[in-house]
Amino acid sequence: MSRAIVVAIDGPSGSGKSSVSRGVASALGLAYLDTGAMYRAATWWCLHQGVPLTDVDAVAGQVRTLPLVMGVDPADPAVHVDGIDVGEAIRTTEISAAVSAVATNLEVRAELGRLQRAEIESARVNGPGIVAEGRDITTVVAPDADVRVLLTASEEARLARRARDVHGTDDAAAVEATRDQVLRRDADDSTVVQFHVAADGVVTVDSSDLDLDQTVQAVLDVVESVVGPRP
Ligand code: C5P
Repeated sequence: MSRAIVVAIDGPSGSGKSSVSRGVASALGLAYLDTGAMYRAATWWCLHQGVPLTDVDAVAGQVRTLPLVMGVDPADPAVHVDGIDVGEAIRTTEISAAVSAVATNLEVRAELGRLQRAEIESARVNGPGIVAEGRDITTVVAPDADVRVLLTASEEARLARRARDVHGTDDAAAVEATRDQVLRRDADDSTVVQFHVAADGVVTVDSSDLDLDQTVQAVLDVVESVVGPRP
């Protein structure tokens, strides 16, 4: 068996990170870790427990004991909290609007970062490797990953994509309704992590004019250029 590889992919909302990362993981037979889903699950749990998200210490306390199980199969990346399948519940507008309050809590970041490193290490040691995606994977969580990619897209492309995902259309009203989820959330998240400019050694892939398959292929080309052809 060839050496395990770790692929780290960061990018802003609407860059297509999740679909692209799953596509890359499937094509290479790797596991897949959606770290955004972990922040979403933490947010869902705090709200479920009735903890005000402004209470920094209480939120950090909840996350330290978060009963989270992350599925890492790119074909079915299930997320369970306390045995409850929260796959759909963590994608609601309520969670999207609230998640930055949890993600900007530095104790939460330290705790979830620790869990993310453990998932990546386990996939590296026990299997062919993993694609991990988020906002700070190339820089903080796995700066030593074999392949590091920043997936970008123009603001216009990102808004249109998210509008199609959430509202099924990218007409003017849908784009307007999506602004908070994309631009405000990225602005809030940017106060604690940097994901608009590639760090040293991180390859930028701009997906503005590419469809999903083309973007997956562009990332596979980066992987091949770094680690060579996979068997
Ligand atoms: O990628 P997704 O939109 O699901 O991420 C949800 C939220 O999780 C982001 O808005 C951000 O607040 C947080 N996040 C983060 N660091 C990561 C991944 C996600 O802060 N590595």
